[in-house]
Amino acid sequence: MAGDALIELRGVNKHYGKLHVLQDIDLTVGRGEVVVVIGPSGSGKSTLCRTINRLEPIGSGTITLDGHPLPEEGRELARLRAEVGMVFQSFNLFAHKSVLANVMLAPVKVRGRKKEDAERRARQLLERVGLAAHADKYPAQLSGGQQQRVAIARALAMEPQALLFDEPTSALDPEMINEVLEVMQQLAQEGMTMVVVTHEMGFARSAANRVVFMADGRIVEDRTPEEFFTAPESDRAKDFLSKIL
Ligand code: ADP
Ligand code: MG
Repeated sequence: MAGDALIELRGVNKHYGKLHVLQDIDLTVGRGEVVVVIGPSGSGKSTLCRTINRLEPIGSGTITLDGHPLPEEGRELARLRAEVGMVFQSFNLFAHKSVLANVMLAPVKVRGRKKEDAERRARQLLERVGLAAHADKYPAQLSGGQQQRVAIARALAMEPQALLFDEPTSALDPEMINEVLEVMQQLAQEGMTMVVVTHEMGFARSAANRVVFMADGRIVEDRTPEEFFTAPESDRAKDFLSKIL
């Protein structure tokens, strides 16, 4: 069913000591939707990403994935967590494993896939991110943009229902940013559900269904890119946009 809620946060609050890092967060991400999260440094964007699959515990509120509440811990959490892939600013590839092995690893270890099947699928995914010819190289032999594309292939290898990206291009040299954004753009067109924290406003304008603007741990605006970029409502968003555009 298209358009139903895949990720839903209701009344989510989280503290780090006295810091109220997430305040009454309500967020719904529909299946096939691309939600871009923007906001000043320290506003809670990374924390939001990590709470979505409970890499971080929350203080109060509920998080559901495809209608299933995420439990605090246990097997069911592990199963649901695997439905949401993550791609970070630092690619976190295994340095001593080949590109192919990096992409095959989790499907074999976590999903119990047969090696031959995992390898076939890994090669398809590397083809899809334009790296079929690099399967036998090691991460250090690749550029940052290529490593990040491997990280995307590795996330896709788990056949997740959604992907979270936390500033996937922030660590890259400028000339490598587009090759990563193009892969993400392609995934968006294919209907992948995505939550993307990024400062790439071109990507937000062209790929996002919605822009969520965060400041001080709150969602201040949640609107279409067109509405957000042409007529931001809050002073915080106006101020932010005046600095980056
Ligand atoms: P953003 O990704 O928008 O820059 P973060 O989610 O990383 O923001 O951080 C939000 C706030 O929470 C910041 O003030 C940050 O210093 C603080 N913070 C993040 N992680 C931790 C942590 N593990 N312990 C304590 N404070 C943290
Ligand atoms: Mg961050």
